[in-house]
Amino acid sequence: MSDAEAALPTTVPIAVVGAGTMGSGIALVAAKAGHKVLLHDANAEAIQRGLDGLRSGLDRLVAKGKMTAAERDAQLGRIAPTPDVDAVAPAGLVIEAIIEDFGIKRDLFRRIEAAVAPDAILATNTSSLSVTALAAVLSRPERFVGVHFFNPAPILPLVEIVSGHLTAPAVAATAFATCRAWGKTPVHCRSTPGFIVNRVARPFYGETLRLLTEGAASPATLDAILREAGGFRMGPCELMDMIGHDINYAVTRTVYELLFQDPRYKPSLVQKELVDSGLLGRKSGRGFFDYADGATAPAPDDAPAGPRPARAVIEGDLGPAAALAALADAAGLTVERRDGTGLVRLDGATLALTDGRCATERMAEAGGPSVLFDLALDYGTAKRVAIARADQAPATATAAAAGFFQALGKSVSVLDDAPGLVVMRTVAMIVNEAVDAAHQQVASIDDIDLSMLKGVNYPRGPLAWCDSLGAARVATVIDSLGRTYGEDRYRASPLLKRHALTGRSFH
Ligand code: NAD
Repeated sequence: MSDAEAALPTTVPIAVVGAGTMGSGIALVAAKAGHKVLLHDANAEAIQRGLDGLRSGLDRLVAKGKMTAAERDAQLGRIAPTPDVDAVAPAGLVIEAIIEDFGIKRDLFRRIEAAVAPDAILATNTSSLSVTALAAVLSRPERFVGVHFFNPAPILPLVEIVSGHLTAPAVAATAFATCRAWGKTPVHCRSTPGFIVNRVARPFYGETLRLLTEGAASPATLDAILREAGGFRMGPCELMDMIGHDINYAVTRTVYELLFQDPRYKPSLVQKELVDSGLLGRKSGRGFFDYADGATAPAPDDAPAGPRPARAVIEGDLGPAAALAALADAAGLTVERRDGTGLVRLDGATLALTDGRCATERMAEAGGPSVLFDLALDYGTAKRVAIARADQAPATATAAAAGFFQALGKSVSVLDDAPGLVVMRTVAMIVNEAVDAAHQQVASIDDIDLSMLKGVNYPRGPLAWCDSLGAARVATVIDSLGRTYGEDRYRASPLLKRHALTGRSFH
């Protein structure tokens, strides 16, 4: 995609239609950049509410000394309430942010197209509707593009510039350059269900919901593992509670349906039960967690203190967990190194990094480990490590493994023998999704990584994460999950398999 087009100059008025959460935020972004903004909403009170919300937000910044009163007044002064939709006529770019309803958006765009100049760009902020299908209601679909801001629009940098089937490359490039001139981080993508972020992020929720279905651990424990070992800013359960289960469930269902019921995106009965019960998360006062005044947040399950091992024998290469040897050394354990297949031998337990199989399956092999441990983003800084014991192993093996990680200063979460544990399977599935999005030409490798870093604050871009783990390891995890579950949900992307074979990296 060419980005040769220039941004729209600030002399070009911008129209924003829909003055709710997103529209008012987008209006402020454009006004801040110096454009005159025509802000329309079918409901005049919504325009006033939107402007009042912007004013009180800017008042807070003025009070904190982060902007002057004159700057606030100048920004707000550039936003003109526009009660009549036809009055958006002078705009060179119209961004629609109304209710998520295809028919209502279609009628609105037909009216807008009749009002504006022939070269004006028409854009939608839709999260889930097809940009291609919306464009098709226009007589000039080539001037239609998705500009998908994230909430809150004035703060979150990412904007997905979504090209429909007939969107002119120059139109997408102008939208891209304009968003960049507004201080945003735009990325290009094709109009496909979930675009980049809402598609690649599905496994972050989906794998935790799956583990909850199987009773592998509690919501608080799974959250703690993904935060404290995975390096994610929030755990999936607290994040779903914040987003709202109705919204999160609807996004998953939409992506699932629009991708022709691909089992990779299958919604979860655990989440449906929450929605059906009205436990929508923070907004309803309760979801996975209780948000009532005085309610205490449940603590993650921590293994009791295990015996401190006198020595640890590290056999072979531990791969992404190689740092454990130096950490054990620094913790004062006697560390012995030998050739081998990537095991940590302790008195009472043999440990290995999960490869997507259950501990029970691995221990069934001659010399197999009795306890598996989970992936960490960085074993040095991780505060927690999850472990799972094979069904054949004695309970003392859990204590021995816990004692080892506790000696390294980690909290330990003991899971039921879940294949791929938590961080490994979640990261592998996110990586696989990102690789498959690249394979299916949804967006470029760089833009996919940028999107997950800037749109949802992932600690590492998924394709960079794949490079550091090795595509072969990720593919092995997915294949193992596929064999264990016997489900098409866990199938490696053809592009991941190719990189696994050649050892090529994505960056
Ligand atoms: P919202 O409910 O806060 O605001 C929608 C506004 O549209 C309301 O003020 C309503 O009066 C107005 N409206 C409805 N029909 C209209 C019409 N025919 N003409 C003019 N105005 C009309 O909704 P929102 O959360 O701001 O979402 C708006 C759009 O942005 C949706 O397409 C949504 O999918 C998308 N989006 C939302 C988020 C989010 O987190 N809220 C994030 C990204 C994208």
